[in-house]
Amino acid sequence: MRGRRVVLFERERFPRFHIGESLLSSANEAFEALGVAERMLAAGFPEKWGARLFTHDGRAGRGVDFAVASGVARSQTYQVPRAEFDRILLERARELGVEIREGERVTACEFDAAGASIESVNGAAESRRTRVRALVDATGRAGLLAKRFALRTEEPRLANVAIYAHFSGVPRLPGERPDDIRLIARADAGWFWVIPIGPDLTSVGVVLPRPLYMRWPHGAPEEMLARAIADTPVVEVLMRGARREWPVRVEKDFSYFTSRYAGDRWILAGDAGSFLDPVFSTGVSIAMETGIEAAAELDRAVAADDFSARRFAGFERRCRRRYQSFRRFVVGFYTPQFRDLFFQERPPERIFRAVVTVLAGRWRPDPWNRFLGWLFFRFVGVQRWLPISPRAHRRDADAGYPG
Ligand SMILES: Cc1cc2nc3c(=O)[nH]c(=O)nc-3n(C[C@H](O)[C@H](O)[C@H](O)COP(=O)(O)OP(=O)(O)OC[C@H]3O[C@@H](n4cnc5c(N)ncnc54)[C@H](O)[C@@H]3O)c2cc1C
Repeated sequence: MRGRRVVLFERERFPRFHIGESLLSSANEAFEALGVAERMLAAGFPEKWGARLFTHDGRAGRGVDFAVASGVARSQTYQVPRAEFDRILLERARELGVEIREGERVTACEFDAAGASIESVNGAAESRRTRVRALVDATGRAGLLAKRFALRTEEPRLANVAIYAHFSGVPRLPGERPDDIRLIARADAGWFWVIPIGPDLTSVGVVLPRPLYMRWPHGAPEEMLARAIADTPVVEVLMRGARREWPVRVEKDFSYFTSRYAGDRWILAGDAGSFLDPVFSTGVSIAMETGIEAAAELDRAVAADDFSARRFAGFERRCRRRYQSFRRFVVGFYTPQFRDLFFQERPPERIFRAVVTVLAGRWRPDPWNRFLGWLFFRFVGVQRWLPISPRAHRRDADAGYPG
């Protein structure tokens, strides 16, 4: 978009399956910036206005409405089948003149004072070398540079396992917002997502802290998911008429932090930098935001002919703050006292609005909402010792909360 020459390597051929289907309001700003807002509208993806929260016995069912978030220009966002969504983004890049090399895997990258040399191999096992001035690593969890420079640290409090598949025949929510994501707390520390991603296709998955998962009798992924569904009453009812349309997949160890987000002639965007547990659906929206920021950084670096790590210090700081801002919510979710307050039927309105502001993607809210967010976590702290909200979530060791 700024007239620079860009080469994009993608090891797969699109469309391809990917997990990460529920977006935040802040994604709308990325769609505007990338010039795909109208295409997103035209694609007819299920509309997401917020989330519906359920406790394991189905008692709560309260809504999280992104419209109450402060500083969000457009609150309604989408839930997407990633194969189609990612194809829209890739085609947009092609249209803007990016040289797309699909089916070409980057195998190595060497940096020197004048640029970087990228080694890649295509489906016919032909390898080639491409010389570039700088590299944005957006390889997701594969983490090309994170592995090369040993940048990653696992998040021990988020050592979770996800088991999921796509189903048809899952009933939608009654009322005006039938496609909102449902987030269902299990009786233990686990939880379910139920995300409509097409007219009759729904993504259903369970996330379990690793110690819980390890205690379960291990069987095929299908058996593990069926077991989790069977002992989560709300989900069991929803899934009675459902038919599985995809194989069940399992993912582990997906939360990690990075010691650096940029270096001389390289920048990390999206999961290639860090990733937080999917509970608040932050992944894709952060990936797009950091991708856009990384592009702007490189544009300025090209203009100044300076690609030093020092130049990218501001980008790095921003990435760290964004990660920390979301992290306290995600880590908090895996404590019973956070859940007591988060799932309560009538939470204090202003405080909850501040919470929703961050969860809609506004990770740097104004000082007032920051203060209210801080207050929320103080209440969570008090809840540990003194019940200011009913203690609705189990606290015993068998519930499997980390730490
Ligand atoms: C269980 C689970 C549920 C999730 N649910 C949600 C959700 O509801 N909402 C949400 O926003 N996020 C969710 N996420 C997170 C989401 O999947 C990611 O955050 C998001 O896809 C990150 O985008 P990315 O572009 O950084 O990486 P990716 O989308 O992983 O893209 C990386 C790309 O790089 C390519 N690649 C990798 N290595 C190479 C190489 N060496 N050479 C060339 N190409 C390469 C890959 O093929 C891939 O296409 C979930 C994650 C998990 C694990």
